[in-house]
Amino acid sequence: MKRLALKFGGTSVGSIGKIKKVANIIKKRHAEGNEIIVIVSAMSGVTNELKNKSNLISNHFDNKELDVLLSSGEQISSSLLSGAIINLGLKARSWLGWQIPIFTDNNHTSAQILKIRTDEILKFISGRGIAIIAGFQGVTKNDRITTLGRGGSDLSAVAIAKFFETDSCEIYTDVEGVLTADPNMYDKAKKIEKISYEEMLEMASLGAKVMQPGAVQASMIDDIPIHVRSTFSEKSGTKIISENNIDHKKAVTGIAYSKNNAKVSIIGVVDKPGVAADVFEPIGKNNINIDMVIQNTSLDGKTANITFTIKQKDLKKTLDIIEKNKQKINYKRITHDEKLAKVSIVGAGMVASPGVTHKMFRSLANEKINILAISTSEIKISVLVQENLTQRALKILHKTFELN
Ligand code: ADP
Ligand code: ASP
Ligand code: MG
Repeated sequence: MKRLALKFGGTSVGSIGKIKKVANIIKKRHAEGNEIIVIVSAMSGVTNELKNKSNLISNHFDNKELDVLLSSGEQISSSLLSGAIINLGLKARSWLGWQIPIFTDNNHTSAQILKIRTDEILKFISGRGIAIIAGFQGVTKNDRITTLGRGGSDLSAVAIAKFFETDSCEIYTDVEGVLTADPNMYDKAKKIEKISYEEMLEMASLGAKVMQPGAVQASMIDDIPIHVRSTFSEKSGTKIISENNIDHKKAVTGIAYSKNNAKVSIIGVVDKPGVAADVFEPIGKNNINIDMVIQNTSLDGKTANITFTIKQKDLKKTLDIIEKNKQKINYKRITHDEKLAKVSIVGAGMVASPGVTHKMFRSLANEKINILAISTSEIKISVLVQENLTQRALKILHKTFELN
């Protein structure tokens, strides 16, 4: 007998018909003799609808109340799924985060899980009950409801796998597994059989929405293998596992992208120690995330240009902040560019394969795709390009790195 953690995402429970289908998958896994703990997301679209409602009241809607509001989506789906399983003649019960409890810190809207009580649910599943846990939520020691950040049911699943010491952590979703790219952007993307935690963390952080980055990080820390698989097909899915168990035959494993980036260039700043700090300090204090940064010095060595990227939604605020600090920063002018995409190739195999960088740049150049900024780490290379060239970039990079 095995103990399984099965997580079903919003797209898998997006309608009553789909909930019934999920109930049947659970029934089958249970009939194989397994103990089952299910983690469920809100029906697709529900969390967004709730968030939009809070925005109609205020864009600065209270964080603690936002968590109460957003967590309600999972209350609906967990009860519907549990009811559907009971209807199939099995024993099931739903649990909300606070009922278990799943204790978190008090970092509302992106809380971290600290501890999960296990005794009641262990007793229930050992008596052949099926536990249905509302994902994405927890409770502070002061009894306030928290949520774990968007896509946070993935993190719930990893934490449940850890605290309940399950034999598997399975993420059921609407695609076959982790693919070499988002199939919505590139329909010839191929399923990846195995990917390391590190690579998946890069892919997720660079825009591959299929797993929440925080969940991948948690699985990496505790070495909890994840199996990403489809609710709608029986195919084998993708294993996210430790690097030691992977033999990298290719330099690149997958390609991620993120849209809605903007680029700001501050031209002619006086080149002296502290100038970068003067630029980025006020931006950081306003909770705006800076992504790529390039600084280059002018020929006379006296002035520099600082270029950086941010999310497009932060552009206006960023420009306002820089203009407000014009005297302190001391620059000639600012320029900016919108509708940019960051396209990133990811692969632990690139550590041992020289030449990946120039191959990437050359193949983009051959397609007349201009690179506006570059950033690299040991296992990824990101380039900034015009957003409308994303699809073309994915296509040529798949060809160059033999991904399909
Ligand atoms: P769920 O509702 O199951 O949590 P998500 O919508 O959060 O599902 O994640 C699945 C989606 O992630 C897919 O439908 C796909 O559009 C998107 N996606 C982006 N990049 C990738 C990738 N590399 N592999 C698979 N899916 C991806
Ligand atoms: N319902 C939450 C969201 O949409 C959590 C999740 O789906 O994982 O972000
Ligand atoms: Mg998700």
